[in-house]
Amino acid sequence: MQTAIVTLFPELFAVFLDTSFVKRARETNRLGVHLEQLREHGLGRHRSVDDTPYGGGSGMVMRPDCVVAAMEAAECAIGGRAVRVLLTPQGEPFRQSVAEELSAQERLLLVCGRYEGFDERVRLFVDREVSLGDFVLTGGEVAAMAIIEACVRLLPDVLGNAVSSVEESFSAAWGGGLEYPQFTRPPEFRGHGVPEVLVSGNHARIAAWRREQATERTAARRPDLERRNPGVGRS
Ligand code: SAM
Repeated sequence: MQTAIVTLFPELFAVFLDTSFVKRARETNRLGVHLEQLREHGLGRHRSVDDTPYGGGSGMVMRPDCVVAAMEAAECAIGGRAVRVLLTPQGEPFRQSVAEELSAQERLLLVCGRYEGFDERVRLFVDREVSLGDFVLTGGEVAAMAIIEACVRLLPDVLGNAVSSVEESFSAAWGGGLEYPQFTRPPEFRGHGVPEVLVSGNHARIAAWRREQATERTAARRPDLERRNPGVGRS
């Protein structure tokens, strides 16, 4: 999967790209990341990429000519047209299903905003708009990292044997619902034990308990997921 990120702050990605399985995915060529410095497409002596809003108002708006030029340069750098994703609080909420769709793409372009956001015409040049959630960040960079991390986990052979993306919250294994509670050693911690079934060695009972727990947990914590997936956790 080849990704490109249009950003005014490429340095924010340095540690992220060089850590854990994102690093491994890059080293094994499962993930390519190109950082396109938006400033290089800015105008004038100060390489400005923003301007005052037509009609007045506070803050600055990102110019469409600079942003689209950066998008096109980023695509050149990763070998061609990508699925273009604008990061904006006004986009569709980012979910596991969106991660699954994006991780299946050969090329992905993430466009990070700053200031008051993008000139509306930028929207005509992207394929989808994605929001990390119903809150406002200062820029799209944290959202881009979240999306890359969620997508990379889904790429074949990235996680290895120790971790699996198959049986996790929001995955098909739980009908899109939440995962069951997990326990590890010690068997007793400050007076709190471990459910007896998990140390019974009876795999059929353990599997049934986990399905039941996943269903109950989803209903209690995320009834909205249950409505979206009526069969949640009951497979
Ligand atoms: N004025 C915009 C609005 O009210 O919709 C918010 C602009 S925000 C301060 C600046 C940039 O941060 C946005 O262009 C976007 O790229 C990014 N951003 C902020 N919140 C985000 C969110 N929830 N999801 C994804 N990106 C976000």
